[in-house]
Amino acid sequence: MRKYLIAGNWKMNLDRAESVDLATQIIAKLPSPCPVEVSVIPTLVHLEAVKHVIGSNVQLGAQNVYFEKKGAFTGEVSVGMLRDMGVKYVLAGHSERRHILGETDEIVGKKAHAIVTEGLGLILCVGETLEQRQHFKTVEVVGRQLDAGLAHVAAASAESGHLVIAYEPVWAIGTGLTATPAQAQEVHAFIRTKLVEKYGQETAQNIRIQYGGSAKKANAADLLAQVDIDGLLIGGASLMADEFIGIVQAAIAGQPKH
Ligand code: PEP
Repeated sequence: MRKYLIAGNWKMNLDRAESVDLATQIIAKLPSPCPVEVSVIPTLVHLEAVKHVIGSNVQLGAQNVYFEKKGAFTGEVSVGMLRDMGVKYVLAGHSERRHILGETDEIVGKKAHAIVTEGLGLILCVGETLEQRQHFKTVEVVGRQLDAGLAHVAAASAESGHLVIAYEPVWAIGTGLTATPAQAQEVHAFIRTKLVEKYGQETAQNIRIQYGGSAKKANAADLLAQVDIDGLLIGGASLMADEFIGIVQAAIAGQPKH
């Protein structure tokens, strides 16, 4: 069974006190133990503060990392440093890093490799722009991003549960436009097929594929009901405790799907 992973990407929002406050509210409202996996992904400089609040019921995630282990890379942070902070999941390939910070498929592939090699969980984000969708390029773009992102992610990492894919159509991120459950499922099924080709049927069936793009309490249950949607990566709605908890509750209610 694939356990849902509900992750809140706080992006470059919330100061230290606000981050601690949001984490505290989330913890207070979550059932313990929580039957679905929940992760919060604060800004790097507040990881430590949030870690002290969340305990073991919520996993700590990081929004970014550099692929080298150590050295003269001013301003960067290694996977080992994140592990020391108690981080379990690291995002790679988020569309804001691809499109605003200029990260290429090659860089994403190197980051993905570094994350799994060092034993952390990789959330590899893929997704097409509106223009690419309108030109029927979704499968081509997502396929290319998967090939590059997973080029150096061995089957052993996928088998051990260290690999999560997040399908995030760029046109749905932060826009209020959500992919319909059917649109999302269509791409998730394609991603599952690619994972079967690369890792084999059994391993691919155990890899979680999250959807991200204006997910919220009101649409979470319908998205999560899709056969290949195994969780949600949430931006805007994860900054509001009630919204985020509402999404987690929808996941708990729908959990025994597979
Ligand atoms: C995201 O940035 O990963 C995201 C899904 O954002 P939002 O939920 O705000 O669309």
